[in-house]
Amino acid sequence: MNTQTDKVVTYGNLVDGQWIEGTETFTVENKYTHEPYAEIAKADKALVDKAVANAKETFNSVKLPATKRYEILMKAAQLFEERKEDIALAITREVGKTIKDARGEVDRGIATFIASAEEAKRITGQGMPIHGQPGNEEKMAFSIRVPVGVVCAITPFNFPFNLTAHKVAPAIAAGNTVVLKPAEKTPVSAIKMAEILLEAGLPKGFLNVVNGFGHEVGPLLLEDERIAMYTFTGSPTVGKMIKSQTGIRKVTLELGNNSPNIIHHDVADLDRAVELCVSRGYVNSGQACISVQRIYVHRDIYEEVLEKAKKVAEAFVVGNPEDEATNIGPMISINEAERAEKWVQEAAEHGARIITGGKRDGALFQPTVLTDVKEEMKVMCEEVFAPIVSIIPYDDIYETFAAANDSKFGLQAGFFTSNLELAMKAAQVLEFGGVNINDVSTFRVDILPYGGVKDSGVGKEGPRSAVEEMTDEKLITIQL
Ligand code: NAD
Repeated sequence: MNTQTDKVVTYGNLVDGQWIEGTETFTVENKYTHEPYAEIAKADKALVDKAVANAKETFNSVKLPATKRYEILMKAAQLFEERKEDIALAITREVGKTIKDARGEVDRGIATFIASAEEAKRITGQGMPIHGQPGNEEKMAFSIRVPVGVVCAITPFNFPFNLTAHKVAPAIAAGNTVVLKPAEKTPVSAIKMAEILLEAGLPKGFLNVVNGFGHEVGPLLLEDERIAMYTFTGSPTVGKMIKSQTGIRKVTLELGNNSPNIIHHDVADLDRAVELCVSRGYVNSGQACISVQRIYVHRDIYEEVLEKAKKVAEAFVVGNPEDEATNIGPMISINEAERAEKWVQEAAEHGARIITGGKRDGALFQPTVLTDVKEEMKVMCEEVFAPIVSIIPYDDIYETFAAANDSKFGLQAGFFTSNLELAMKAAQVLEFGGVNINDVSTFRVDILPYGGVKDSGVGKEGPRSAVEEMTDEKLITIQL
């Protein structure tokens, strides 16, 4: 059982349906007050071994029919709905995300569970016309999709509930067992998800949870050959390391971006475009992988956009994330806010103009708009992961498509125009996993396929795509 004292709850690791408290714990702090919020038992080598062994043993010995997997995931979704406020508060405290956004994240997690439950009933292979191949007239061939086995899910801090849902729910829907390693900065809402899944009827061993720091628990998980697949969301540095250490085993990686968004002079609703571009740069204090970062604006509308962008940014209320009026809470740590401040200062020293923001108070970072930036500045070419957007004027749209592509990343991009032909051209030439026309890079509906190219990752999420990634196609042939 997870135990509660006056203030701080202690959470264990989950193995074979039991919550196990370890000898060592680490503290999760409330990201706004910086007070201890939860104590988490660390998984040591023996416990990680036990968790993986149990997941493998469960996969080999217990079969959960698709109808049952559907029922469990739907029941969990219903329980999330009933406990929404409790989960949202956990997200707000562990991430620093505003309570309004945290409720939105729980809603998204519910949608992800429901869509995954539906997918459990749709898993199917394909029929193949082998009889049309000379010499094979008396054969039949078809494929079925089978679960891969033990799936290891490693998650980041920024959307600890919904991004965990995007891994755990499709893995269970596909008939796998899961070993989950939540982000050490924000494990509480993922642990709550696991508690609720048990309550919803998930048999023991189908989901085990091991907590700890990436550099300690991570290598134990990566070297364990009983794990068939890794589904990782996080930084490109760790993603590349996972890919290099897991041999020929399956890996999906959802990594970073420095999302470009382009507003052309013929945009139908400039106010909407600016409002979306600027405000979606500040989602979760800019700590979203598809957060708007680079805003390319046609020179004819550049001055107007700067003025409007300043107004949008300055309307944001920064402060206590539990306060209903707050739009931006703290960043994940003071260190991260200091890093963002340094990047803005460096840009300013090299000629960038701060239209608004750029200031920091502890982990709170003012919503920031920059211009006169250069492509080689960190705020442009690296993933900024802070509430900072840069506005860049352009004359030639084709050069701008090339500038948008001139990045090591390729997750999602946005393009605003009224010109259908140009919209189609953008869809064709922008080298990203997703291109949103007349919406921002941040637009994402959880049922859709989602994933990047280049350093933004490999493989797709979204329940249907994830179930496909988490199953193997097995070919069956029959001699008649
Ligand atoms: P991170 O890479 O620091 O950590 C992510 C997870 O990896 C954590 O659970 C961590 O403990 C674990 N980890 C760290 N070292 C490890 C190791 N050696 N072996 C195995 N696991 C290890 O990322 P973060 O700071 O939590 O998240 C921010 C990053 O995530 C950003 O780059 C952001 O763009 C990316 N992200 C991507 C998406 C997407 O869908 N593409 C979504 C959200 C966040």
